Amino acid sequence: MSFKSLGLSEALLKAVAKKGYTKPSPIQEQAIPPIIDGRDVLASAQTGTGKTASFTLPLLHYISENPKKKIRPIRALILTPTRELAAQVYANVKDYSAFLDLKSAVIFGGVNQRPQIAALRSGVDVLVATPGRLLDLHGQKAVSLKRVEIFVLDEADRMLDMGFLKAIESVINLTPNRRQNLLFSATYSKEIKRLAHTILKEPIQIDVTPENSTVKAIAQMVYRVAKSKKTALVIKLINDGNWHQVLVFTRTKHGANRLAKSMANSQISASAIHGNKSQNARTKALKDFKSGKIRVLVATDIAARGLDIPLLPHVVNFELPNIPEDYVHRIGRTGRAGAQGEALSLVCTEELDYLKSIEKLIDLKLSKTIIEGFEPQPDEATTPPKQGQNRNRRHRNAPSNNVKKHSKSNNNQRSKRRRNTSN
Ligand code: ADP
Ligand code: MG
Repeated sequence: MSFKSLGLSEALLKAVAKKGYTKPSPIQEQAIPPIIDGRDVLASAQTGTGKTASFTLPLLHYISENPKKKIRPIRALILTPTRELAAQVYANVKDYSAFLDLKSAVIFGGVNQRPQIAALRSGVDVLVATPGRLLDLHGQKAVSLKRVEIFVLDEADRMLDMGFLKAIESVINLTPNRRQNLLFSATYSKEIKRLAHTILKEPIQIDVTPENSTVKAIAQMVYRVAKSKKTALVIKLINDGNWHQVLVFTRTKHGANRLAKSMANSQISASAIHGNKSQNARTKALKDFKSGKIRVLVATDIAARGLDIPLLPHVVNFELPNIPEDYVHRIGRTGRAGAQGEALSLVCTEELDYLKSIEKLIDLKLSKTIIEGFEPQPDEATTPPKQGQNRNRRHRNAPSNNVKKHSKSNNNQRSKRRRNTSN
């Protein structure tokens, strides 16, 4: 299968070639044609499977093939949960539209709104936004969504986790009723299903979530360790292994800061990213990590979600997540695109219950190692830490591979678009 056979325009094929992509990923193969056809799509596929291009390419195709004369109202709106993701999706939109006469912009909180307002004023075809800043600017009458034709929810599961349901509904209420809706998610849960039901009309459903196969392809290890010795142990592992690019997960923002500081004190260059960091600080940390300027990126789950950090050899769970699915997301950062990766978890006594839930989810008993000098203390507390248990969260309902459910809908307004685009 080639990108060309998916029906994309020459300008988009050129941009894709420039990115170095030779063939579409499975999710792209399945999502692009129905989206070009104007169908609503509900798609779930793991992080790193190429979801961004799955919606960006066909929406750019539609908009450029059906140009609006003179005025530039916002015709496509892409909502993402975090600033980093917004910036990343926007970078993709820019890349893919390199050979198109389209304008795009990105808006998110935490930075000065003035340049964003100026960009909006100059006319934008494709807008990438986080819900908060978007609603804020709408309240200031700096943005109108009355002409939106395509509405995209990216990382919909994380949107729900972050409590954006109300905000999403508010945004949708600002868009016309007649629109194409695309919902992309890394996981498929009851909550996503419910959201999809309220937003999507007769959607094509695409699910390329592999069961636990990817999890099993990654070397996973557990180090049982005293809570007080975790910092020393992770530093030892990084030094002994001479690791140069390590993503370390902590459960709290505070913990992330503390750990990054301890690393720096041990001559291991590190930065922390989390929700309390300024946008500039987060962007810089990610850039430095990608370029190899810093060896360790310490991140919380929310900050790391969906970040495009390709091919990491090492992922360390400094603390286990209290939500077992987050473990799968975290270790999904390693061994991408077939490369071998290693995921290590430092587990103290009070986290043993978390470990049990994780092992149950991935249906795998993880091998446990104890390193001399870092032994777990038997008298440590056995009750799990409390914070962060407030998220009511998805339970994966046995995903099947490559399920594609078509529903018949030849009489809806979207088939009109199909005629428009095929000339
Ligand atoms: P997701 O949103 O599913 O987590 P992304 O859209 O961020 O995934 O893509 C993950 C990585 O894969 C990015 O670096 C992207 O440039 C790359 N990528 C996407 N599509 C292709 C493709 N068809 N061929 C090769 N690389 C691709
Ligand atoms: Mg994504």
